[in-house]
Amino acid sequence: MSYLNETHDPALQSWVASANVADNGFPIQNLPFGVFRRTGGDEAFRPGVAIGDQILDLAALAALQPWTDAAGEALQACASEKLNGLMALGQTHWSALRLALSRALRTGSTMQSALEPLLTPMSQAQMSVPAHIGDYTDFYISLNHATAVGKQFRPDNPLLPNYKWVPIGYHGRASSIGVSGQQFRRPVGQTRPPEDGAQPGFGPCQRLDYEFELGIFVGKGNQQGDRIPVDESESHVFGLCILNDWSARDLQAWEYQPLGPFLAKNFASTISPWIVTLDALAPFRAAFERAATDPQPLPYLQAKNADSAAFDIDLETLLATERSRAQGVEPAVIARSNFKDAAFWNVGQLIAHHTVNGCNLAAGDLMGTGTLSGREAGQEGSLLEACQGGKKPVALPWGEERTFLEDNDEVILRARCSKPGYPTISLGECRGMVLPAKG
Ligand code: CA
Repeated sequence: MSYLNETHDPALQSWVASANVADNGFPIQNLPFGVFRRTGGDEAFRPGVAIGDQILDLAALAALQPWTDAAGEALQACASEKLNGLMALGQTHWSALRLALSRALRTGSTMQSALEPLLTPMSQAQMSVPAHIGDYTDFYISLNHATAVGKQFRPDNPLLPNYKWVPIGYHGRASSIGVSGQQFRRPVGQTRPPEDGAQPGFGPCQRLDYEFELGIFVGKGNQQGDRIPVDESESHVFGLCILNDWSARDLQAWEYQPLGPFLAKNFASTISPWIVTLDALAPFRAAFERAATDPQPLPYLQAKNADSAAFDIDLETLLATERSRAQGVEPAVIARSNFKDAAFWNVGQLIAHHTVNGCNLAAGDLMGTGTLSGREAGQEGSLLEACQGGKKPVALPWGEERTFLEDNDEVILRARCSKPGYPTISLGECRGMVLPAKG
């Protein structure tokens, strides 16, 4: 569990000047983890921590062996190409490393001269998927999204009777997950026949969509056959990132019954490069609320920390197109929502549910929350909802409109936490671009 401690002092400043700039998103109170290398070479990727507009090389720092105890052990686990080793150590080690990094990077630290040569500007870094993702599960935790999408697929019966009892999910594909900047070909596949019994359509997807989700990186896993109890489950979460679960709606509509999504979802998924720890998000915890008219979850999903099990994270979706880039116009904001308002299930419940049958989770496993749509217009987490299934195109300020994504469209997802008196904690950005289908 994450407790507020000296690393959350809003007055802390870093000797890395850019970390102290208001709203830069990566102040010393954040310290998210990623995997990077300097651009222009073929050096190995290695873990780093973001501070302002710089990245501190944790593998190089590990070689200096500056710390002993849990922080030292956690740092040694960063002498690697991925974060799995650090993730597997668990909450005590993560918090110890965070505290040691916070002390090393704050103004007045005696380590400044040793650490300065270990910084790389973000503008000169290439990021990679931060962990080896062994398994990827996608949930469906927004009641608003489930209802809106359900209406389009099943107008008479939008919300199935299990929804308010079971955190719905499916096993997705890990191999096609890429990091921000990912470009992928428009998928090709089968679509529903024009009439029952006729031959299905086949060709490039005509209803390509994004889904704004958050990704939950599992830290310490569990043995197969063991459950992770809901009151311990958050301590198994290393942190959160942004996730775009690209979705081919026309392929989905034809293939999804009876086993759920398959080729509509597995061609590409994009995550932001930085994993923001639950420690860093602790100041933005909020009460997890459920309407009094909704059923209370079964006991194995009832956590004692309901008064702080939600996270107040603002989500913003932007779109850039070939034309907007040619005109030099800024990307258009097409939706804004918030994690806490969009989620019917919380992070701890997802972990507890995933393991209630004895399913084993491992360090680096990724869980998508599902599309995080709010209740109001303008809070949609996908184009399917924003354009009401294609009926109401979204107008873009430079004169185009969209129902679904066109070739060379770029979707930019951003997430950040802010409140008065505390530095902004950014989850960064998740960009991805649709390329034309392969002929
Ligand atoms: Ca999804």
